[in-house]
Amino acid sequence: MYEIFSDIVIYVLFYTYLKFFNNYCELLRKRLTEIEIINYVTFAMWVLEIYQSKQGEGLWTGKYSIFVRTLGCALRCRYCDTPYAQQDRTENENEEDGIGANLSAEEIVGRILLLELPHVVITGGEPMQSPEIVELTRLLKDFDYQITIETSGIVDVPVLCDLMSISPKLSNSTPLKAGRDIAHEQNRFRPEVVQSLMLRYNYQLKFVVDTPNDLNEIEEYLKRFQGVVSERVLLMPQAIDARTMTEKASWIIPFCEQRGYQYCPRMQIIWYGNKRRT
Ligand code: SF4
Repeated sequence: MYEIFSDIVIYVLFYTYLKFFNNYCELLRKRLTEIEIINYVTFAMWVLEIYQSKQGEGLWTGKYSIFVRTLGCALRCRYCDTPYAQQDRTENENEEDGIGANLSAEEIVGRILLLELPHVVITGGEPMQSPEIVELTRLLKDFDYQITIETSGIVDVPVLCDLMSISPKLSNSTPLKAGRDIAHEQNRFRPEVVQSLMLRYNYQLKFVVDTPNDLNEIEEYLKRFQGVVSERVLLMPQAIDARTMTEKASWIIPFCEQRGYQYCPRMQIIWYGNKRRT
C-alpha cells in the first residue's frame, strides 16, 4: 500500500515538473521571438537612397563619393536642403524611387560594393540617430572605405569615420510651423555631443549662414568649445541658387578671412543646380 502511494506521489511530482518545464520553454520561446523582433526593428537602418556623386561641400569638396542617405530627422529645420529625408519611415512608405528600405548593415555594404568608389558619405536626414550606423561603419572599415559622416551634432554614437562633418543648427533653422519650433529648439543645441565628437574625430564644423546676424551667433556658439581649430570652421551660405550664394559670399568671405574660418560654397548647386541626388 505504501509503495503504491509513493509511486502516485512520484508520478504527480514528475507530471508537475514536466508541466512547469513545458510552460517555461513556451515562455522562453516567446521571449526570444520578442528579442528577435526588437533586434530587427532597432538594428536596421532606413535608407532612402544610395548613389554616387561628387562631394560639393566642406574640406573634401570634389571627392567622388558614394552617398548613403538615411531617412528621418528630429529637427526639421526651416532651410533643410533634403526635406524629403526628414520624415520618419511610416510617412514615407510609398517613396517611389526605389531604394527607400529598411536595410541591415550587410545589405547596405552589398549595395555600396557595386558602385566601386573608395569614399562613402553617410548622410541624411540624421544618420547618427540609427544605431545600425555603428555596425555599418565597422563593416565599411573592414573593406577599407574612407568615410565621412554628416550630422547635425545632436546624437553621439561610437562610429568609425575619417571625417566627422558636424553642422550645428543656429536659431535661423527653427521651423516656422507651430509645434515643430518647440521640438526643434529643445533638440538642436547639444554642446556636449558636439564637443565629444570634436575631441574624438577629425572634424569640420559647418554652419549654414543666412543673414549677417548669424555671424555673431556663430561667434557666441564657438566660445563654448575648447580647442576649436579655426580652419575647420566652415561658413556656408543658405542658398539654393548661384546668384544668392554669390550675394551672401560678399559679406561671408571677408568675415571668414578676418577670423581664419573657411568660406564653404555649395558647389553641387553650381555644378548641377538644386537637384536631388547631387
Ligand atoms: S538637421 Fe539636416 S536633415 Fe535634419 S532637418 Fe536639419 S537640415 Fe534637414
